[in-house]
Amino acid sequence: MLFAHPVGGSLLAYQPLVARLTDLRCLGLEASQRTFFDGGAAGSIQELARRYVGGFGTDHPTIDVICGWSFGGALAWEIACLLGERGERPKVVLLDSTWARGEVPVWTPAEALQGFLQDALSVGGRDVQVVADTHEEAAAALDMDLKTFGERLEIFAHNRRILCEWRPTPGALDVVSVRAAESNTSDWRTATTGGVHDHDLPGDHYTLLADAGTVAAIEQIIRDDRPAATGGPGAAGEQVGESDAADLHASLAKLVDTPHWRELVIRARRMDPDAIAEAYRELGRRGLLTPDWPREAGGSGLPTRLAIELFEGFCSTGLPDLVYALTVQIVGNFVLKSGSDRLKRELLPRISRGEEFATVLYSEPRAGSDLAALRTKAERRGDRYVLNGVKVFSIYSDISGSALVSARTGQGGNKYDGITLFVIDLAADGVSVELVETLQRERMCRVRLQDVEVESWRRVGDEGRGWALLDGALAIERTGIDHVVRAARWLGALRGTTGRVPGLERLEGQVECATTLARTATEVFLQADVKAIDTAVAKLYTSETCQQVGHEVLRRWSTLGTAPGVDDLVGEELFSGLTESPGLTLSAGTSEMMLSTISADLKEEHSRRCLGILHHFGGDLVDTVLDVLGPVGAGVKVEPLFAHSPARRGALARTLADLGFDRIERPEDEGGLGLGLPVGCAISLSTGYLGYENAYRSCALQGGGAEADDEEALHHDCDAPACRLRHAAYVLGLGIGLFHSAWEHASTREQFGQNLVAFDALMFPLIRGYAELSALGVRLHEIAENLADMDDGVVRRFELVEQDALVRVIRAAMQVLGAQGITEWSVASRFYMKCAQNIGWLDREGTVAIG
Ligand SMILES: Cc1cc2nc3c(=O)[nH]c(=O)nc-3n(C[C@H](O)[C@H](O)[C@H](O)COP(=O)(O)OP(=O)(O)OC[C@H]3O[C@@H](n4cnc5c(N)ncnc54)[C@H](O)[C@@H]3O)c2cc1C
Repeated sequence: MLFAHPVGGSLLAYQPLVARLTDLRCLGLEASQRTFFDGGAAGSIQELARRYVGGFGTDHPTIDVICGWSFGGALAWEIACLLGERGERPKVVLLDSTWARGEVPVWTPAEALQGFLQDALSVGGRDVQVVADTHEEAAAALDMDLKTFGERLEIFAHNRRILCEWRPTPGALDVVSVRAAESNTSDWRTATTGGVHDHDLPGDHYTLLADAGTVAAIEQIIRDDRPAATGGPGAAGEQVGESDAADLHASLAKLVDTPHWRELVIRARRMDPDAIAEAYRELGRRGLLTPDWPREAGGSGLPTRLAIELFEGFCSTGLPDLVYALTVQIVGNFVLKSGSDRLKRELLPRISRGEEFATVLYSEPRAGSDLAALRTKAERRGDRYVLNGVKVFSIYSDISGSALVSARTGQGGNKYDGITLFVIDLAADGVSVELVETLQRERMCRVRLQDVEVESWRRVGDEGRGWALLDGALAIERTGIDHVVRAARWLGALRGTTGRVPGLERLEGQVECATTLARTATEVFLQADVKAIDTAVAKLYTSETCQQVGHEVLRRWSTLGTAPGVDDLVGEELFSGLTESPGLTLSAGTSEMMLSTISADLKEEHSRRCLGILHHFGGDLVDTVLDVLGPVGAGVKVEPLFAHSPARRGALARTLADLGFDRIERPEDEGGLGLGLPVGCAISLSTGYLGYENAYRSCALQGGGAEADDEEALHHDCDAPACRLRHAAYVLGLGIGLFHSAWEHASTREQFGQNLVAFDALMFPLIRGYAELSALGVRLHEIAENLADMDDGVVRRFELVEQDALVRVIRAAMQVLGAQGITEWSVASRFYMKCAQNIGWLDREGTVAIG
C-alpha cells in the first residue's frame, strides 16, 4: 500500500492510520528538497506524479492500494492513472481530497507562512491559533530548526500553488472517496468512469486523520474495499476466512447480476479480447480469481474450496473458462509450486489481479501425445537461454502475456532427460503468434520462437529435469473442473431449449458425479506430491461426461440450431457444445493417454486402488468392516453363497447384528452409535465388495424395526432416500468387487506370451469402468454426507448413473474373464448374477432391491 504525501510534503499525518495497518506493507512518498529541485520544481501535480513514478523503476513492489489525504489524494490519483497506463490497477483511496472549483487567491509570502504554520499545527493535532510574523517564530512554534522549516515552507507553498491549478486527469479507475462532513467536497464521479464508493465521516479535514474513531473507520474502509491481494485483518483464521468467503461470494453476486456483465460475457464468448480482459480484470480487482493463493502471490490464503466455488460461480455465467484454467489453474498454480522467487513475484500478483493471461506451449507439429518427442531447443548463453522452435494448438496465446514452454536443453540417456520448462514473455522479440482457424470459437494459435532470449529466472525447476516436473504440471491440468462447468452450462442450455427430454436426467446425474470428482481432484492437486494418476481419473471421467453432453447437443442440433427465439447466451452454449466437444478428450492429454496412465498405476496396485474407493468412506472403518466380515466371507466363498438366497441374507443379517452393526447408525439417544449414513453406506459398500448378500438393512434392523431374523422385515421394500442410497452403495461394492476379480484374472492369465493386462484393446473398457466406479464412489460419499440438504431427485439420478455405468463395468469385466467367467463356480459369475439381481431395481421408482 502506498501513501502519497500531503501538501506539506511530510507523511506525519498518516501515522495514526498506518499504526493500525501493521499487517500490510505500507510505503510512503515524502517530499524532499531534492525531489523538489531535481529538474526544477514540478509545474503540475501530473508532472510531480510522473517524476515519482519514473523513480519507481520497473522492479517496484506491487501497489494494490494507493492512498492520499488532501493534496496527497490528488497526487495519489495522478500516480494511479500513470500506473494504470502500465496495466496496473491499484485501488485508489482518497481521503478528503478535493479540487478548486473557482478562482483561488494567490497568497502573499506572509499568508503562505501563516497558512503553512496553521496546516502543520493542525496536522500535528494542535488545535490552536498561532500567529507568526517571521520564519523564526513559526519554526519555534512548530519546534523545527530553521533550515527544515524553510524547506518545508517552500514545498508547502509550491504544492499549494500547483494544487490550486489542478484538475484531475480523467481516468477509469475505481475510487474510494472518504469525505469529512465539514469539508468542501468534490464529486469524483466527474473524474473517473470507474466506480466511486463514497464514505462520509464526521469531523473536519484535519480531525479525519486524528480522531481515533474516524481513523478506525478509515482502516475498515481500506480493508473492506481493498482488493484481496492486500491482505485482510490479521492472519487467515477460521472466522476471518468465513467472513471473507461470504464477502467474496457477495461481491461476485453483485458483479454478475448486471446487464453489463451479461453483455461482457456474450462478447467474451464471441472472442472479443477487450471483453475477456475487462471481465477478468474486474474479477481480479475483487480478489475473486485466486483467493486461495498466499498473500505475497496476490491471494488471501483462503481455502481452495472457496476458489473452486467462485470459479464455478463466474464461469456458470458463461464466461470463457479456459482463460482461467490456463492462467490461474495451470500456469499460475504451477509457478506457485515450482517457480523461482522472482518469477512468482513478477507473474503471480498480475495473474491474481486479472491483468495477465498465461498459456501453455507444449504441443509441437511432431509432438502430441508423445510430448517428450519435442524439438524446440533452449540453448544456454550466459545468464539467459535462447529458444527456437514451433509450438502448435495453443489456446489464447494471442491474448496472453506469458506462456509455459517445454524445450530441450540437452540430450540425455533417454528422451525424457534434457527437457526444461520456462515461463516466457510472449511480447519478447522473436515470438510470433498466428491464429489457427478451428471448428470452435476458442482461439487456437501456432507460436514460432525464433532466437527468443529468456532470462534464467524464468526457468522453472532445474535445467534438463523438466520431465519430472511435467508430471505435476500435467496433473494440475487434469482436474476437470473446467469441463464440469461447461457440461453444466451446456446441459442447462439443452434443458432450457428442449425441456426435460428422456436421457437428460441421467446426464444430469453424471454431471453431478463429475463435478464432485473434479472438486475433489482440484482440492488434492495443490498437495506437494500430486502425480498424473491422481487427476487422470478426473480428466477422463469429466471430459467424457462433458463430451456426452456435447453429443446430446449434436444429436439434436438439426432442431436446436434452428429453434426460434433462442436467447443469445443459450445459443452460444449450444454452439460450443457442438463445436468444443470433440476437443475435450484430446486436450490436456487424450483419453487414451489417461487410460494408459491409469493402466500403469493399476498394474502396480489395483487392490489398493479398489480399496481406495471404499476408503473414501473412512479407511479405518472400512478396514474394520472387511476384517470383521472377512472370515465369514471365506466361509461364504466355499459355499456358493453368491447366488440369491433369502436364507443366507437372513444368516448374514444375524451375523451383522451379533457384531453390533445394527447399532451403528441408530441415534445415540436410542442406544446406538449415531455414526450416520456415510458409515452405513460404507458397510453396504463393503458387503457388496465382498460379494455377500445385501443384508445390512439399517431401517429393518434399527430399533422399533424388526429383529435380524425377521425375514419379512428384511425383505420389505423401503423407498426412503437413505435406504435407496445404502442399496446403491451395496451395488457399487459389487461393481468394485467384480472389477477386482477381473483385474486379478487379467494379471495372471497369459496369452500370446503376455498377461492379459498388457492388451490395451481388452483392458481399456475395464479401466474406463474403474474411472466410473471411482467417480460414483466420490459422489456417493458426498450424497451420504449431505442427503438432508439435497433435492429429492438426487438419489434417483445417482441410481440412473450407477446402473448405466455398472452395465459397462460388467460387460468389460466378463469380457476380460473369458469363458471361465461364465462358469457356475467362478466368483465372477456370482458377482454377475448378484449385479443383475440388484441393479435392475435401481431404476424402479420407489423400490429398493431385496437381493
Ligand atoms: C481444444 C484443444 C486445446 C488444446 N490446447 C493446447 C494448449 O493450450 N497447449 C498445447 O500445448 N497443446 C494444446 N492442445 C494439444 C493437445 O495437447 C494435443 O491435441 C494432444 O496432446 C494430442 O496430440 P495430437 O492432437 O497431436 O494427437 P496424437 O498424439 O497424434 O494422437 C492422435 C490419436 O491417437 C491416440 N494415440 C496416440 N498415441 C497413442 C497410443 N500410444 N496408444 C493409444 N492411442 C494413442 C490419441 O489418443 C489420439 O486419439 C490442445 C488440443 C485441443 C484439441
